[in-house]
Amino acid sequence: MITIKSPREIELLRKAGNIVYQTHQYIKPYIKEGITTKELDRLCEEFIRSKGCTPSFKGCEGFPNAVCASVNDCIVHGIPNNYKLKNGDIITLDIGACYKGYHGDSAWTYAVGEISDNDKYLLEHTEKALYEGIKVATAGNRIGDIGYAIEQYSNKYDLGVVKEFVGHGVGTEVHEDPNVPNYGQKNTGPLLKEGMVIAIEPMLNFGSARIKVLENGLTAKTFDHSNSAHFEHTIAITNGDPIILTGEWKNGEN
Ligand code: MG
Ligand code: MG
Repeated sequence: MITIKSPREIELLRKAGNIVYQTHQYIKPYIKEGITTKELDRLCEEFIRSKGCTPSFKGCEGFPNAVCASVNDCIVHGIPNNYKLKNGDIITLDIGACYKGYHGDSAWTYAVGEISDNDKYLLEHTEKALYEGIKVATAGNRIGDIGYAIEQYSNKYDLGVVKEFVGHGVGTEVHEDPNVPNYGQKNTGPLLKEGMVIAIEPMLNFGSARIKVLENGLTAKTFDHSNSAHFEHTIAITNGDPIILTGEWKNGEN
């Protein structure tokens, strides 16, 4: 069931989203050669809890940690461990925080030191694909318009669009209806209405879109070992431009 959030709920979702944004800003300087993904997870969890929130993903669908840490060819649901980041790696941190029962969800892929030109290309165009989706996320359009915009953009830059994982509604649950695929047809799917809150999250591979899920049943990697990037914002639908709830607040607004 797709729910429409009241202005009061949107305020709580803004607060949760802002803490997710702050967590990304807090952790960024730590993303350097030598740090383990476990340590990044611990720092994020401490920060989230220091803000009066709980980490949305801990215990969610069997995930054991606070944040997902996906390195290089890992697409999503990387489990933090003792791997030490190396110069030239890319790492996606997918961070969720719950504030007074409402969630925010945002993933970002970061460069560790100096990365290859191919990885720069992958990160640049995956982030841009996210904003192509956000651009058409306005009341009156449909979910399929978002997927169409992301897929067209990704095809133009010859990046593989992961189909098995999709965006979603966000509210009192971190994953709610509707599904928000990164592919689709214009003018299809649920109608976007003011007060809907959704996470848009393209996952693009430098190579083929094909994936494989590891034996832990959670972690997904690219089948061909090419690197993968993932950029995600939680947004609130309005009759105009959406409000990026996990984005930077400007003059008290975001
Ligand atoms: Mg996420
Ligand atoms: Mg998400």
